[in-house]
Amino acid sequence: MPGESLEEALDAARSLREEALPAVLTHLGESVTDASAVRAVEEEYLRALEAIREGGHDVELSVKPTQFGFDLDLDLCRQAVGRVLERARGEGLMLWIDMEGSATVEDTLALYRALRAEGPGVGICLQAYLHRTPADLEELLAVGPAVRLVKGAYREPPSVALQKPAEVDAAYLRIGRRLLEAEAGDPRTRAVFGTHDLELIEALAAVAREVGDDRGAPECHLLYGIRAADQRALVRAGRRVRVLISYGEAWYPWYMRRLAERPANLAFALRALLTPERQPPSRET
Ligand SMILES: Cc1cc2nc3c(=O)[nH]c(=O)nc-3n(C[C@H](O)[C@H](O)[C@H](O)COP(=O)(O)OP(=O)(O)OC[C@H]3O[C@@H](n4cnc5c(N)ncnc54)[C@H](O)[C@@H]3O)c2cc1C
Repeated sequence: MPGESLEEALDAARSLREEALPAVLTHLGESVTDASAVRAVEEEYLRALEAIREGGHDVELSVKPTQFGFDLDLDLCRQAVGRVLERARGEGLMLWIDMEGSATVEDTLALYRALRAEGPGVGICLQAYLHRTPADLEELLAVGPAVRLVKGAYREPPSVALQKPAEVDAAYLRIGRRLLEAEAGDPRTRAVFGTHDLELIEALAAVAREVGDDRGAPECHLLYGIRAADQRALVRAGRRVRVLISYGEAWYPWYMRRLAERPANLAFALRALLTPERQPPSRET
């Protein structure tokens, strides 16, 4: 994270833009079950949209349904996300909907379909590790979706999700191929790959060429500060890359998922606690 404030996040977006790296912005938070707190989240995103417009930034937004009261009241959630989406559409900016734990998938897909039925400019995340995802993708393709495919960050049981990294990677490639084929055949469909896995990105680039994607490369979204040097190398290699910048005070659960993804990060965090004068982690990892 570049910082907790919107201003720090947009400063980071401005610096990245100078290196041909546009951004996606997310205000951290999840499991909000209080209507006034949902209202505050909505206002924060509207403030972000205003600042993006004033600053002329090339920034898309990404939101978590449970941050918008998904667990409290689905209608309230849909209306609040809908108001942010309406403003984003007015600015010509894309709004992405994150996918959270498996219990939320059905209603999140319904939320996406309802918002997509009102117009374009809205995307949904799908998680390759879920057994259900290939079928979900097939259903979604009918509406010409924007899909950001990720591996999946939540702990799920074997009945729900693949457990072995090699199996998740294979599923990611299979689903990614289907998505690229759909994108090549339907101009409404947008395929995005939210991953730092360079081997997968290269494999998908080969698939894109195979299916006749004349833009020549899959679009990739990576997290701020993770494999930063590789993000720039991908741009130099002609890949379309966006960097997801998170900001806000509610970083704890998000940070814990990032630590769990890479045990080396946990060791680093512990060493930093024990030796506070230590430098921050290299942005090159
Ligand atoms: C733009 C974006 C949006 C996302 N949105 C969602 C979402 O809505 N729902 C969801 O469930 N998940 C989401 N995720 C998280 C995703 O599911 C994975 O948990 C995460 O991206 C790690 O998987 P990976 O594809 O990078 O592959 P991995 O196999 O985990 O990593 C590949 C390589 O990337 C590097 N790397 C990966 N993670 C880290 C890290 N934390 N620290 C340092 N190096 C790392 C390592 O070198 C690793 O070897 C998102 C990820 C991205 C990039």
